[in-house]
Amino acid sequence: MKEKLISDGKRIDGRKAEEFRPIEMKLDIVSRANGSASFRFGNSVVVASVFGPRALTPRHLQKPDSCVLRCRYNMAPFSVDDRKNPGPDRRSKEISKVTRLALEPAIFLEEFPKATIDAYIEVLQADGSTRVTGINATSLALVDSGVPMKDLVTACSVGKIDDTLIVDLNGKEDNNSEADIAFAMMPSKDKITLLQMDGLLTKQEFLTAIKMAKSYCKKIYELQKKTLKEKYENVD
Ligand code: ADP
Repeated sequence: MKEKLISDGKRIDGRKAEEFRPIEMKLDIVSRANGSASFRFGNSVVVASVFGPRALTPRHLQKPDSCVLRCRYNMAPFSVDDRKNPGPDRRSKEISKVTRLALEPAIFLEEFPKATIDAYIEVLQADGSTRVTGINATSLALVDSGVPMKDLVTACSVGKIDDTLIVDLNGKEDNNSEADIAFAMMPSKDKITLLQMDGLLTKQEFLTAIKMAKSYCKKIYELQKKTLKEKYENVD
C-alpha cells in the first residue's frame, strides 16, 4: 500500500500544508568570489559563488552588446544518501539552464558587453527543492557581487500530495508527489521567471498553487532583503 504523506493534516516532517521548512541565508561564504551566499530550506543546503563580470574567453562566445551569464549547478557526491556520481549529468545540465533563464531577466547584462558572469551553485545537502534553493542563493550572491540588478529573484516549490496542495517539498515529497512546481519570480516587479511543472493539476489547483507560490516568494523576498540590509545598511 502507498505510504500516506499527510495524516491528520500533518506532513511527514510534521509541517502543515502551507508551512515551509526553516530558512537560513548567509552572505560572504567564499572569500575568493566577487559575491557569495548560502541558502537553506530545511535539509537542502546550497552555496552559490559569483565571479565577474570578467572577460569572456574564448572570444567567439562573447556577445557584442551583452554580458553572458553562465550558471553551473552541481550536486556534491555526499549531498544525498547514496553517493552521487560526480560530474555533470542530464539533470544538472537542465537545472543549470533553467537557473540561468530564471536569473537573466533580473540583471542589467547590457552594461557589460563581451564579459561573462559565472555562477557556481554547489548543493551540499539535497532534500528536495534544490533548484529553487540554488536560485535564491545565486540571486543573493549576485547582489553581493555588486552586479546591477533590476530586482532580486526569489524561488520556491509548490506541489500536491495526497490531494492536498503544499509548499516547499522535501525530498520524499518531491519523489512521491502527484505534481510539483518549481517557481521563481522578481517580487517587486511581479514577474515570473521560472515555472516548471511535473505531474498533473486541475486548472483551479494550478491557479491556487501559483497564488501560494507568489505569496510564499514574497515572504522569502523580505528575508533576503533583511539579510542584505544587515550587511550593507552601515556601509559608508
Ligand atoms: P529539485 O532538487 O529541484 O527538487 P528534482 O525534482 O530533480 O530537483 O530532485 C528532487 C530531489 O531528489 C532532490 O532534491 C534530491 O533530494 C533527490 N535527488 C535528485 N538527484 C538525486 C540523486 N542522484 N541521488 C539521490 N537523490 C537525488
